Amino acid sequence: MGILITDTTLRDAHQSLIATRMRTRDMLPIAAELDKAGFFSLEVWGGATFDACIRFLNEDPWERLRSLRQKIKNTPLQMLLRGQNLVGYRHYADDVLREFIRLSVKNGIEVFRVFDALNDIRNLELAIKVAKGYKAHVQGTICYTTSPVHTTEKFAGMARDLESLGCDSVCVKDMAGLISPVVASELIKAIKGRVTIPVNLHSHCSSGMAPLSYHAAALAGVDIVDTAFSAFGWGTSQPPTESIVAAFKGTPYDTGLDLELLYEIGEYFAALCGKYRVLFTAETTRPSVNVLLHQVPGGMLSNLVSQLREQNALDRFSEVLAEVPRVRADLGYPPLVTPTSQLVGIQAVLNVLAGERYKQVTQEVKEYLLGKYGRPPAEFNMEVRKQVIGDEPAIDVRPADLIKPELEKFQNEGRKLGIIHQEEDVVTYALYPQVAVKFLRGELKEEAMPSQAELAPKTPAAPDLPMEFSVDVDGEMFNVKVSSVMGKAIEVEKPAKPKELPPGAVVAPMQGMVLAVKVKPGDVVRERDTLMTIEAMKMQNQIVAPHAGVVKEIFTFQGEVVNAGDILLVMEASD
Ligand code: MN
Repeated sequence: MGILITDTTLRDAHQSLIATRMRTRDMLPIAAELDKAGFFSLEVWGGATFDACIRFLNEDPWERLRSLRQKIKNTPLQMLLRGQNLVGYRHYADDVLREFIRLSVKNGIEVFRVFDALNDIRNLELAIKVAKGYKAHVQGTICYTTSPVHTTEKFAGMARDLESLGCDSVCVKDMAGLISPVVASELIKAIKGRVTIPVNLHSHCSSGMAPLSYHAAALAGVDIVDTAFSAFGWGTSQPPTESIVAAFKGTPYDTGLDLELLYEIGEYFAALCGKYRVLFTAETTRPSVNVLLHQVPGGMLSNLVSQLREQNALDRFSEVLAEVPRVRADLGYPPLVTPTSQLVGIQAVLNVLAGERYKQVTQEVKEYLLGKYGRPPAEFNMEVRKQVIGDEPAIDVRPADLIKPELEKFQNEGRKLGIIHQEEDVVTYALYPQVAVKFLRGELKEEAMPSQAELAPKTPAAPDLPMEFSVDVDGEMFNVKVSSVMGKAIEVEKPAKPKELPPGAVVAPMQGMVLAVKVKPGDVVRERDTLMTIEAMKMQNQIVAPHAGVVKEIFTFQGEVVNAGDILLVMEASD
């Protein structure tokens, strides 16, 4: 039998290339043709697609699913599920997971590809069990990465575990496009030797090797590969559907798909490309072997650049890139994928900018070191752990075991807010409490496509005034935009700060927004007590008392954007 194809054009492809901005109205005209092509499945839904719908596009993600289902009657619709994180950024309670999967099935999902960023199987078990309960096809996923502790044997063992849990197939998810042809061959052979279920290889062209690796995987016995139509393929996206199908034509791996029909569909997407052309960038459309040197996946790389630019420290970029693998080693070699990619990347930035490793640590990294994301692939660096959280013991249970049922709470809140119009809205609200309210109230406007002029390099009116922030509150991201009126920069009024640093001054270690001020003048604090929280680079950073003492005066307020070195408050040391 030939090779099966999962087409990702409606999910991963536009997520990887144009920040997940493809609209449903651009998917529907080609949906019936996609259905005719004969793919194993169509990947159409996932975390970023859900998020972008309610944050930027003013689209109901559930409605997108229903309308695709109406036109796609024969091909299974597939989603990417972040295990216990579902389509969000934190671990949710089990009752939210059950309801989310029930409604995903109800609205048309038939294939669940389930992964966990740490490959911690405990974070996958319930999702697999619940989806199996609905007779869905469950694809257990192995996040591929390289490190001294990631061996072919370990990956193959995980594949075996996934089959034991009842998975219908297993996927090797190479999100950064790192897998080489030789490794792909070795890994697929090893997995095929351990399981009886079909094996899928998912890769990206980020390093340029993926088409070769697919060929090597085919020779090694892979059953399914992921591709995207050529106009939305290559670069940081998947290998092109048409080319892969053509390459296997007339071989034992022949996909059996009709190249002429694929060509027609490809023409539709090529035309659609024009509409979104302003969103394509050189960084995402070209492969770069650099990814193999530092292993930083494409999406994270562009994140790091923009975050360093925000901190006015782009000249430290190569130092940060060198620091990423060291932080990853300290944290026990997690694969870099949402949310661990963000965690590791930002800590590397902080380590470089603070001039001292782990002097400044995000809340997320502290929780990670407490085991609240799951079990890392290798031991933490215990010296780093001690420096960051002292002797506090790590949890040794599945993280979601510590989360109480929360669906009813969201149901009640949502009803009170008057935002529940269909049962799916409760889940949308539970997953994204901040972002969802505006959307469910009908107050969100569809983001306009930026014009060429807007994308041209800017000469800002106020060069050091940040214009857009992503604020993270309890794991929920929301965007705050500062817009200028008639091209004029906004004057931000700041409290008068002393020109020279007084004794006892506590200064901002980085540029960011003050999320919370936890003390007031006169408060007595102990060494390492939290004084305030600054949100920077999408992570929360606690500013702690350098010594015991009394708070004398505060020079900032909640919501203020501070620069590195700005004075935040003055403390008087107690003896
Ligand atoms: Mn991917």
